[in-house]
Amino acid sequence: MYDKFNRKITYLRVSVTDRCNLRCTYCMPECGVDLMSHKDILSFEEILEVIHFAVKNGVQKIRITGGEPLVRRGIVDLVRMISDIKGIRDFGLTTNGTLLDQFAKPLADAGLHRVNISLDSLDPVRYRSITRIGDITSVIHGIDAAIEADLQPIKINCVIKSSPMEEDAQAVAKFCHEKGLEVRFIKEMDLEAGHFSQVIGGDGGNCKMCNRLRLTADGKLKPCLFSDLEFDVRELGIEQAFSRAIGLKPKSGTENKINKFSNIGG
Ligand code: SF4
Repeated sequence: MYDKFNRKITYLRVSVTDRCNLRCTYCMPECGVDLMSHKDILSFEEILEVIHFAVKNGVQKIRITGGEPLVRRGIVDLVRMISDIKGIRDFGLTTNGTLLDQFAKPLADAGLHRVNISLDSLDPVRYRSITRIGDITSVIHGIDAAIEADLQPIKINCVIKSSPMEEDAQAVAKFCHEKGLEVRFIKEMDLEAGHFSQVIGGDGGNCKMCNRLRLTADGKLKPCLFSDLEFDVRELGIEQAFSRAIGLKPKSGTENKINKFSNIGG
């Protein structure tokens, strides 16, 4: 599938929940956000139908996101069903790592290839203040479990204010180097204001080369993170939703006034 700017669409990010067990300051308010109702959330069958269609039409890379995907009940079963779909070359999941200690091995056994883990600081006090409720030891244990389970490569997503030279970022980079992990720096983004930049050490945010679509947990197909455009796969049907999302995919991101990071999975 190509969009009108001749960009090949090969990557689908699938948010499986808007719920999270952390309250990161740059993602959601302390009190949390209004959660989607259970009936609004796509069932496993609906998610699989969308992924089947996407892969049949050229998507090769699937990433599971949230909220925090590991809080979705039955996530290991969903991963197993997705990994059975022929044609997926790159199957990853983005997590805050706090539950990974118990899920890494079952996810790897279910067919997941790799994980991206959020880690913005190694200082327990700083980590707690950024996540409001997080305990960094659970994340470190989760990283070790992912290494043990041979989920590869393991990439660490480190959110920065403006520069990888920031103290926390440097400590995370040193930690990743010592553990043989890849680090990517993501400057804090603002959906409403349209503030974003290319991921340092990754390809996110590079509009010229953008190859991705996003599926929200309640079934909206989004051609761009920094756009209000979205197409409901339940209302339009999967084929129509893809055709409109790709046909109207913007040349580059502007602003997004309708989504929150917590329900679009970044
Ligand atoms: S802002 Fe939109 S077009 Fe640009 S890289 Fe992100 S999703 Fe792609």
